Amino acid sequence: MDSILEFVPQLFYPLTNGPIMGHRMNVQTRETDVAVIGGGAAGLFAAIYAAKGGASVMLLEKGVTGRYGATSCALWSIQAPFGPRGMDARDSPEVMFRDIVTNGRFLGDQNIIEVITKTACDRILDLESYGLKFRKLEDGRFYQTPFPGQTYPRSVFVYENGYAMSMALAREVQRTEEDNGVVDTKGGQDDTLGIVRVF
Ligand SMILES: Cc1cc2nc3c(=O)[nH]c(=O)nc-3n(C[C@H](O)[C@H](O)[C@H](O)COP(=O)(O)OP(=O)(O)OC[C@H]3O[C@@H](n4cnc5c(N)ncnc54)[C@H](O)[C@@H]3O)c2cc1C
Repeated sequence: MDSILEFVPQLFYPLTNGPIMGHRMNVQTRETDVAVIGGGAAGLFAAIYAAKGGASVMLLEKGVTGRYGATSCALWSIQAPFGPRGMDARDSPEVMFRDIVTNGRFLGDQNIIEVITKTACDRILDLESYGLKFRKLEDGRFYQTPFPGQTYPRSVFVYENGYAMSMALAREVQRTEEDNGVVDTKGGQDDTLGIVRVF
């Protein structure tokens, strides 16, 4: 340090409530019913359902919605116990629950596993209605392949991959924003938050 004067701004840092070198954080305050943090499959689904249920929603994604996180890297398979609407009529949420709990050596949270097994088929149908393409048999049933740990073939086949799923969800978020009449994709953009959507 050439001069003790260079040190002076740091002394006042707690008083000015901002970083040194004169740079201040741009703090914005917004109200919302639901704030969703993360724009992967979980966050995008949560945002869509909260908005369609009548809540105002703020979706906070540190990167680019639909392009960051594990969802956009995922492969082609999603487990869902379609039973008669899939490859084996004997499959059911109860069989899938047992498979996951026992093959997971009882490590998984059984409350979450129960929700997943009971709702997986409905979320697949949601994704299909958002435009995601699944491999189907000629009679309309879902084509499913067996994976280790499954009593019956249970993995539905997503054409393309997780990126297509992210994009289908992101497009549905866009449609939901438009339906709700408020679109604001600019507010809050800065180095830390990436994109904030309010709808
Ligand atoms: C290579 C790969 C292949 C896979 N293949 C399959 C498969 O075939 N089938 C399958 O079922 N599963 C697969 N998975 C697992 C599956 O992709 C994930 O379990 C699932 O996508 C997780 O979704 P998520 O929404 O919880 O998290 P993510 O998709 O990771 O979303 C989290 C989001 O939160 C954002 N974020 C994180 N921190 C912050 C913050 N502080 N502020 C704001 N935003 C933040 C991230 O940028 C990201 O966009 C695979 C995973 C990988 C990596």
